[in-house]
Amino acid sequence: MMTKCLLKESERADVLLDPTTAAAHLHFASCPSCAQSSAQQSGLWLALDAWKVPEVSASFNRTLYEKIEAAIASPWYERWAVAIRQTFAQPSFAVAAVALFVVGGFVLDHPGGVVTPLWSAQVRSLHPGAVQVSSTEAEQVERTLEDLEMLHQFDAGSDEKENTQKSM
Ligand SMILES: [Zn+2]
Repeated sequence: MMTKCLLKESERADVLLDPTTAAAHLHFASCPSCAQSSAQQSGLWLALDAWKVPEVSASFNRTLYEKIEAAIASPWYERWAVAIRQTFAQPSFAVAAVALFVVGGFVLDHPGGVVTPLWSAQVRSLHPGAVQVSSTEAEQVERTLEDLEMLHQFDAGSDEKENTQKSM
């Protein structure tokens, strides 16, 4: 078993980020853990330096434009099928389905009920037969909507992140 490094994390990071210093060499002599990490890191850098990015084939653009032309020339029902398949594959569709399920369950659980929040007194005066919703139920709906909003924002954030990674 390898002995644990005695340096603080920040000191260890300094040593590993610049392993050419005299202090780093001195530490590696007494710390097999850091010496091994440094050797692995150097190996990784060397491998990355030696890595050759594959050339883009000369026919890449031609193939791409042929595929675009084929997609444009395809019948409308095939384009619709592709669009629908992509829509159902979206995570936001799953969120919308869950929201519909929750709202549907609430509506089925309260048949004939009308949600009457803060303006319930006005609604009651206009519609004396309107069903009251307790404040607890209203809070549950509000919390669910907030959760859905948060999920939507999280979803939008992850989409943005994906797009920026693709564009890089
Ligand atoms: Zn160490």
